[in-house]
Amino acid sequence: MFESLQDRLSGILDSLTRRGALTEADVSAALREVRRALLEADVALEVVKDFTDKVKERAVGVEVVKSVTPGQMVVKIVNDVLVETLGSEGVTIDLNAPSPVPIMMVGLQGSGKTTSTAKIAKRLTDRQKRKVLMASLDTRRPAAMEQLKFLGEQGGIDTLPIVAGQSAVQIANRAMQAARLGGYDVVLLDTAGRQSVDEALMAEMAEVYRAAQPHETLLVADALTGQDAVNTARAFSERLDLTGIVLTRLDGDGRGGAALSMRAITGKPIKLVGVGERMDQVEEFHPERIANRILG
Ligand code: GDP
Repeated sequence: MFESLQDRLSGILDSLTRRGALTEADVSAALREVRRALLEADVALEVVKDFTDKVKERAVGVEVVKSVTPGQMVVKIVNDVLVETLGSEGVTIDLNAPSPVPIMMVGLQGSGKTTSTAKIAKRLTDRQKRKVLMASLDTRRPAAMEQLKFLGEQGGIDTLPIVAGQSAVQIANRAMQAARLGGYDVVLLDTAGRQSVDEALMAEMAEVYRAAQPHETLLVADALTGQDAVNTARAFSERLDLTGIVLTRLDGDGRGGAALSMRAITGKPIKLVGVGERMDQVEEFHPERIANRILG
């Protein structure tokens, strides 16, 4: 088990600070522990630095109120900054555009992209009564196309028929055309992934993006990725105008630091979180819950 930030800080601060305002020395001592807690929670290094700078700015000079200890005071400030950075609650997928609304799903292979595509399709169908079409653009991996088709059959969601030999852009165009003809409200494009960020993949994503002009472009990221989260987030957000993040595997025992890294690097809201393999295991994002998990 991790020692909570609260326990660590009270040990340090409560002996240091006489009541009154938090001094620079108090805050510096506290921030060493905050930094450790964030790194243990797998928040990326450069994000930790920016974050602790923000906390420092906020904390130095703050009056410690009588009802709390200096340690509790700092934990509260850290928690507030964390929740603010993670973003507001209840930001969901925006369908406010002419039908069919294109939604492009991007991310590394294994991040949970195909599963998340099907989860979102199911959610939009069941809760918002939208007619949804899904299409797999993963031309290199026939198994990925089959997987989406299988999930579609399971969840009662239509998938674009698979045609061998087409490029990702051709499939995207065909999906949009089929959606227009078929009276669909939403088209979910499940793009190809790779094991790591590579130039060919990014070029393909940019091309699909230009062709489909998605209303939402969602980066799917695994909550269990630690320091790598930054590279992934940066690579995708540099090439595409992302509109949000879907964070998967929050049911795992990771501490969820990737949430902070992803959010800080892209500046985009976390719109949904995956909490299991089943198609109904997707939820709205609650920054408070992740903040608690990160701080331990
Ligand atoms: P893709 O390569 O990015 O399309 O990844 P997949 O959608 O195929 O997912 C890879 C694996 O992760 C599959 O076994 C999924 O069932 C699993 N998976 C996806 N999302 C979640 C999640 O939120 N929680 C858990 N526990 N497993 C997930």
